[in-house]
Amino acid sequence: MTERLYYRDSLLREFDAHVLSCEREGERWRIVLDRTAFYPTSGGQPHDLGRLGDARVLEVADAPDEKVIHYASAAVEPGLVRGEVDWPRRFDHMQQHTGQHLLSAVFLDLFKFPTVSFHLGREVSTIDLEAPSVSARHLLEAERRTNEIIFDDRVVSIRFGTAAELAEAGVRKTVDRDGVLRVVEIDGVDRQPCGGTHLARTGQAGLLLIRRIERRRDAWRLEYVCGFRALATARGDFATLAKTADILGCGLPEVPGGVAKVLDERGAQHGALKRLQERLSETEARALLARSSTSNGVAPRIISAAIDDATPGYVNLLAARLAAETGVIALLASKTSGHVVFAQTRGGSCDVGALLRDNIKKFGGKGGGSRDFAQGSVPNPSNADQLLYLAKETLAAK
Ligand SMILES: [Zn+2]
Repeated sequence: MTERLYYRDSLLREFDAHVLSCEREGERWRIVLDRTAFYPTSGGQPHDLGRLGDARVLEVADAPDEKVIHYASAAVEPGLVRGEVDWPRRFDHMQQHTGQHLLSAVFLDLFKFPTVSFHLGREVSTIDLEAPSVSARHLLEAERRTNEIIFDDRVVSIRFGTAAELAEAGVRKTVDRDGVLRVVEIDGVDRQPCGGTHLARTGQAGLLLIRRIERRRDAWRLEYVCGFRALATARGDFATLAKTADILGCGLPEVPGGVAKVLDERGAQHGALKRLQERLSETEARALLARSSTSNGVAPRIISAAIDDATPGYVNLLAARLAAETGVIALLASKTSGHVVFAQTRGGSCDVGALLRDNIKKFGGKGGGSRDFAQGSVPNPSNADQLLYLAKETLAAK
């Protein structure tokens, strides 16, 4: 069994301990001490990092017999070793974890929504709430109340007792476990059985910001950030907003209106472009048909064209226009994008799908479609002319 110094003193950053064992395990060393301030991953809170002597602590885990295992980058000598916890990381974890106790207590107190799980993530933390529904009003009220308690700077204390003793003292969540339990108490707010590391006073949490909420199978998953993470998040949000305002050339409050206006304009231009493309495709189809009017009137007219500066959508449109005429096979490609479309008048004698597949393969392209309409693309648009030439040759040979 390892004595867990953080149980009684979560603010302990450095300690001395006796090395009980140090064994190599793959690339790492597995170290057991008689006592430790390092927190092992458990209860939703990730493990600490830091140093044991000159070795870097890479991971800390619970093991049977209430041992704590330190996985380190190097061996430590037998005897006494100095341990040093990576404090910014630990303090961040304490801010998120105490913040979680507060937030969970507030949701239960205000709305009777219990927390069913907690995860302390690398960037955001989450709690899963059991609730019929969670509205924006619930979130605002809970956030407001949680921050009031933070600003009250209440004492956070630890107490130990058996399950029966704790139940008598009013600990809400009963734990079905023998022996002495550890409880985290936030003065006048909450008492929770918990083995995690916590702040000494609620004021150290700084600020709690609720972020997104999403419906999970049987709970509502709520994201939040606390302490320095709240600062970093607010700073990041401001930078994003300021950059957007800069791009739009407006003030911060005008950003939503500015973005809506740009999207409206884009929608209108898209409509105008579509109408222009339809008119252009009509004219271009007529010109292409006129050029091929030398057909004998019996065999299908083969219209082949590699088009400059054409989007895939436009090439499709033009192919559809040509195939709407009687007795036409259209072989089209875009010289800009490498998009290829083969189409024929519905029910024509050719299988343009097979024709496209066979020829596009030769240029490393992919595509397919039906007997009457097929499309695909070649990776190198400059091959468009050559591809159309070969397809036309194939048709002529039939
Ligand atoms: Zn906890």
